[in-house]
Amino acid sequence: MTCLIVTGADGLLGSAVRRAVPDDAYYLTHSEVDLTDFNSVRTAFHLLKPTRIIHTAAVVAGLGGNMIHSGEYFRNNIMLNTNVLEAARQAGVRKLISYMSTCVFPDPCAHPLKESDLHGGPPHPSNFGYAYAKRMLDVQSSAYRKEWNCRYIVAIPTNMYGPNDNFNLVEGHVIPSLIHKTYLAKINRTDLTVWGTGKPLREFIHADDIVRLSLWALNEYDEDAPIIFSSGAEISIADLVALVVRLMRFTGRVVFDSSKPDGQFRKPSDTSKLRRYCPEFQFTPIEQGLEETIAWFLAHYPRVRQ
Ligand code: GDP
Repeated sequence: MTCLIVTGADGLLGSAVRRAVPDDAYYLTHSEVDLTDFNSVRTAFHLLKPTRIIHTAAVVAGLGGNMIHSGEYFRNNIMLNTNVLEAARQAGVRKLISYMSTCVFPDPCAHPLKESDLHGGPPHPSNFGYAYAKRMLDVQSSAYRKEWNCRYIVAIPTNMYGPNDNFNLVEGHVIPSLIHKTYLAKINRTDLTVWGTGKPLREFIHADDIVRLSLWALNEYDEDAPIIFSSGAEISIADLVALVVRLMRFTGRVVFDSSKPDGQFRKPSDTSKLRRYCPEFQFTPIEQGLEETIAWFLAHYPRVRQ
């Protein structure tokens, strides 16, 4: 009997795994085990005897949260990743997948971003605490593979979104924050104020797509080097706003507040490795994914993470 553990089960990605394979895993939540405490993680893994782990737990936020909490995000991500990977080693886990994000790449960096560019320079100053902590997942996985033959793999998804995201107005990522702001602007009949110029470009990926790719990777991918999960489709923040506004039927004025940060201008990713492995993979189109996410938000508001 193989036991699969999913960490971060209440989060955006963890809950997407639960939707996809509800009965195939043990879903570990923050309230059950504090992953920043090594003894708790070791005890949990000792009892549960996992053979495979999908490690989605992380302390994450959008541009706003990253700028405010660089120390906290560095400390907590370093601690929980170090603990989970080490406790997994001690428990004899056979395969583990963890996640970075394209925001951890060097900035500036040649485009498109390639897996091999990861450690080639400092990350963007807006999220350096989070980025350096996340890069260590790759270093630890590699070091453990080298010394102890641990089959730990690392995926690098682009900007993830989907149901059960964190809809916080200041610290959330752009899609959940925008959905929440548009909802409030609609009911309060105010302008919709969007951060920055609207010109930056992003590649978005639905959490359900990451789950499908992760389940594939757990079985089929075993390289020491990480793998980027992305469709490669870029969209500007202005076009994203226009889509959200149309799907939520917001008819008020949209104001771009250029006194707020734009963050990185773009971070297009090289999808050639993923395409080589999974040439047939179909990504959820952004309009369909947004529609689903908005429907989920409207059905659950105000009991959403925010
Ligand atoms: P990033 O890719 O790590 O920068 O992640 P975000 O999801 O935070 O995306 C940030 C981009 O969206 C920047 O260009 C912001 O200026 C823009 N943006 C517009 N409105 C918002 C908002 O309400 N929240 C966030 N986080 N970003 C916004």
